[in-house]
Amino acid sequence: MGNTVRRGIALLLDQTRVRSVQNSATEDSNDQELSNPQTPGRRGGTQPGVKNGEELVKQFLCQSNVVIFTMTSCTRSTQVTDILATMGVPHVCVELDKRGDKQEIQHGLWVLTQQRELPFVFVDGKYFGGAEKFVQAQRDGTLNEILRRGLRYDYDLVVIGGGLGGLAAAKEAASFGKNVLVLNFGGTKCGLGGTCINVGCIAKKLMHQAALLGQAIQDSSNFGWEFNKQVSHNWTCMMEAVQLHIKAMNCSHHKQHLQDSRVTYLNALGELVAPHTVKTTDTKGAAMCHSAAVFIISTGESPRYLGIPGDREFCITSDDLFSLPHCPGHTLVVGASYMGLECAGFLAGLGLPVTVMVRSILLRGFDQKIAERIEEHMVNQRISFLRPFVLTKVEKIQEGSPGKLRVTALSSDGKETFEGEFNTVLLAIGREACTRNIGLDHVGVKYNPRTGKVLVDEEDRTNVGHIFAIGDVQKGRLDLTPVAVQAGRLLARRLYGRQRTKCDYINVPTMLFTSMEYGACGVSEERASQMYGEENIEVYHSNFWPLEWTVPGRDKYACYAKVICHIPDSERVVGVHVLGPNAGEIVQGFAVALRCGLTKEQLDSTIGIHPVCAEVRNASWRFASALIYPVLCKTEQRCIFSSLHPIWKYFLDGL
Ligand code: FAD
Ligand code: NDP
Repeated sequence: MGNTVRRGIALLLDQTRVRSVQNSATEDSNDQELSNPQTPGRRGGTQPGVKNGEELVKQFLCQSNVVIFTMTSCTRSTQVTDILATMGVPHVCVELDKRGDKQEIQHGLWVLTQQRELPFVFVDGKYFGGAEKFVQAQRDGTLNEILRRGLRYDYDLVVIGGGLGGLAAAKEAASFGKNVLVLNFGGTKCGLGGTCINVGCIAKKLMHQAALLGQAIQDSSNFGWEFNKQVSHNWTCMMEAVQLHIKAMNCSHHKQHLQDSRVTYLNALGELVAPHTVKTTDTKGAAMCHSAAVFIISTGESPRYLGIPGDREFCITSDDLFSLPHCPGHTLVVGASYMGLECAGFLAGLGLPVTVMVRSILLRGFDQKIAERIEEHMVNQRISFLRPFVLTKVEKIQEGSPGKLRVTALSSDGKETFEGEFNTVLLAIGREACTRNIGLDHVGVKYNPRTGKVLVDEEDRTNVGHIFAIGDVQKGRLDLTPVAVQAGRLLARRLYGRQRTKCDYINVPTMLFTSMEYGACGVSEERASQMYGEENIEVYHSNFWPLEWTVPGRDKYACYAKVICHIPDSERVVGVHVLGPNAGEIVQGFAVALRCGLTKEQLDSTIGIHPVCAEVRNASWRFASALIYPVLCKTEQRCIFSSLHPIWKYFLDGL
C-alpha cells in the first residue's frame, strides 16, 4: 500500500434536502438501464435535486474504494460482485431500487459518467466502467493492477481518538516513516491527550497533592514551624492553577510533539463509514472522508450515569469536578472504587465534609484486607460511608454555587430508605466505552453491546483484520494510562517495525491515590488463593510506621505491606501490596522485579535504602527496625493468614 496523500471529499451536509427528495422519489422497474436521467442537458433547465445527486454519489464513493451502483435484479452486476468476492476485495453495492433517493442518484451518475447502463463500477472514486469492461479486465489479467492502484489510501494509518494511547501509537508509526492521521474530538472537556491529561490522572493527582499539603501543614508545627494566622483552602485558586497546567500540556506540548513527529492532527469526530474510510466532522460541522490501510480505535471512555431522576441535571462526574468553578461543599460520592475513593479522599483532605455511598463492597477486585484498612483510614479522616445503598432520586432544593440537593436512596435489600441533603453529588460509578457513534456496525467490528467495549485478540486486533483497538476501549484489560500507551507503542512496532512483542497485560502495577496511598502489583490474596489454592500460598505482611510520621505522632497502625508468594514455585512473589506514603513510587520498582520472576529469597537478600518506607519490603517481616517501626511478625518469620490476626493490636501496643 502506498502512502499517497489524497484530499478528503466534502460530504453532503444538508440532510433535510435529501429527505424531501426521498419523499418525492418514484419507483422504476428497469433493471439494466437507468430510466431518463433528468439532467439539465436532456431536459433543458435545472431539475430539483440535480446538484444533490452528484454529491450523493460522491458520498457513496467515500465509503469504499470500490463502489457499484446497480438494481437488485441486475444480473450483470452479480458478475462483478462475484469477481470481487472471489478476490476478497471489500466493496459497497448501492441498490438504487431500494432507495427513496434513487432519482437523485441517477442524475448524479449521469452527470459524472454520461452513461446509462447498469451497473456503474467506481474504483478509487473514479468511474471505471460497466460489467463488461470489468469482466474483460479480469480475463486479460489487468484487473489486479487496476484494483491495486485503486486501493491506494490517503493514509497508512488513521488513529481515532487522541488520548495518550492513540498518540503513542501515532507517533511510533510515524517514526517508521508512515503517513498518519490522528483524530481527536472531546468537546470542551477532553482535548488532545484525552482523559488522563484533561479530566483524569493529572488533575486528580494535583488535587491529591493539594490535600497532602494540608496534612503537611498540620504536621509541620511538630517540626517547629509556627503560624500566626488561620490556614484555609481556596478551591477556585487550586482549580485555576490545575487547569492552567492542563491547558499548557494539551495545547502546546502534545500538538508540538505531533508536529515534530510529522503526524497530521484533526480536531474532528471520527466515524467509520466503510472498511477503509473514516468520515470526520470538525467543530464547525464540516465533514470530510479519509481512507487508510489500517485503523486504530482509541476513543477511550466517558463517565456513566445512573438513569435516575435528576442525575444528568444535578449530579456531576469526574469530567466536571476538576474544573468546577466553585467549592463543591458537602459532597456525596456515589461509587466506591478507584475514582469514588480517590475523589472522596482529596475532598476530605481539603477540609470538606464527604459521604461515600457504597452499593456493595469497597474496591472490588482489590485485596480486600487492604480495602478494609483504607475504609478504616477514611473513617478516621471523618469520611462517612453509607452502605449498602443505591441512589434513586436527586432533586434541587436550593440554587447557588454550590446549591443544595436532596437525595433519596434505597438500601440494596430494598428495605430501608435514606434521604439527605448535600451541596454536590459526584457520580463515580464507572465508565463506558466511547464506541456507540463511531460506526463499528458499519464495518462489522464486534463489541460488547452493554459496555461498548471492543473485542480484540492478543495482538489488539478486532475481528476485522485491518482495524485494531487499544486503551480503555478494549474489553477485559486494565483501564490505565501506561497500559494504553504501551499497547499503542507496541502495536505500531508490530505493524511497521517488524517487531513481534505483544503487550503484556500481566502484573501491571496500579495505584490508588486515596489519602492513604495504596500501590499494588500482581494478584490480591483472595485471587492468589483461588488461582493456586490456599495451601500453596504464603503471605508475609507487616505494619510499618514511616519515620516522617513519628514526630507528628500520626497513626501508628495505618501503614501496611504485604507480599504474597507461590510456595511450589520457589516462593515466587505473585503479589505486592503497599499501603502508605508514596506507595506508587515503592511498587513501581517491584513491578520490574515481578516481571523478572522475583522470589522471596531474592527479596530478603537484597540490600535496601535506609531510612525509607520501601525498606519494609525485606527486613520488616523479620526484624523490628528501630527507624521504620515495622511491628508485626517480629519473631515469626512466616505468617500465613486469611483474616486479620486477633491479637494484632495487642502485639502492636506492646511494642
Ligand atoms: P482516552 O484518554 O480516554 O482518550 C480518548 C480520546 O478520544 C479522548 O480525547 C476522546 O475525546 C476522543 N474521542 C472519543 N470519541 C472520538 C471520536 N469519535 N473521534 C475522535 N475522537 C474521539 N490511569 C492511571 O494510570 N493512573 C491514574 O492515576 C488514573 N487516574 C484517573 C482518574 C480519573 C478521574 C479517570 C477518569 C481516569 C483515570 N485513569 C488513570 C485512567 C486513564 O485516564 C485512562 O486509562 C487513559 O486515559 C486511557 O487512555 P486512552 O488513550 O485509551 O483513552
Ligand atoms: P469502577 O468500574 O472501577 O467502579 C465503579 C464503582 O461504582 C464500584 O464501586 C461499583 O460498585 C459502583 N457502581 C457501579 N454501578 C453502580 C450503580 N448503578 N449504583 C451504585 N454504585 C454503582 O469505576 P471507577 O469510576 O472507579 O473507575 C473507572 C476506571 O478508571 C477504572 O477501571 C480505573 O481503571 C480507571 N481509574 C484509574 C485510577 C487510577 O489508576 N488511580 C483512578 C480513577 C480511575 P460495585 O462494586 O457494587 O459494582
